[in-house]
Amino acid sequence: MPSTDSKDQKTSILAENYKGIISLLGEDVSREGLLDTPERVAKAMQFLTSGYTEDPQEVLRKALFKEDYKQMVIVKDIDFYSLCEHHMLPFWGKAHVAYIPNGYITGLSKIPRIVDIFSRRLQVQERLTTQIKDCLQETLNPLGVMVVIEAQHMCMQMRGVQKQNSTTTTSDFTGAFNQAKTREEFINLIK
Ligand SMILES: [Zn+2]
Repeated sequence: MPSTDSKDQKTSILAENYKGIISLLGEDVSREGLLDTPERVAKAMQFLTSGYTEDPQEVLRKALFKEDYKQMVIVKDIDFYSLCEHHMLPFWGKAHVAYIPNGYITGLSKIPRIVDIFSRRLQVQERLTTQIKDCLQETLNPLGVMVVIEAQHMCMQMRGVQKQNSTTTTSDFTGAFNQAKTREEFINLIK
């Protein structure tokens, strides 16, 4: 592998590889409509995987505030777009995040930010759910965290089983959310 230090360098290497892929798929890469496609795809994929270059814990740590509030904080209906690591096809949907502070809260806009950072990597929905939960738990040390993700997967809809409208739901939680009553409160509030 040649050295891949700068982003531009990576873009042109990626573009070169996409040119090969498009050609192997049976297309004429010198056709007018495809001339700039390899570079565009390279840039799009770099954006869709830009979460690798960001540290979600750092994002939360920069916006920690001391606060006595000890009730549930919920950020629901966070739109996200990710790529399944098995087919590199999109899966997308909504994430719902709740936590119960234990002395510290974080800026509300930081929660969608960390959802974005973890989404912009090659993922499976299950791990995405757990990573968001762990990040909040480890950074804020709250009394509990719960994450619910509802998503649709292009790899199911466009190929194979072609279940057009199926939704996959995953959830994970810590601490106070081990109590069914606490989970119910959250589930009722995101309905
Ligand atoms: Zn897939």
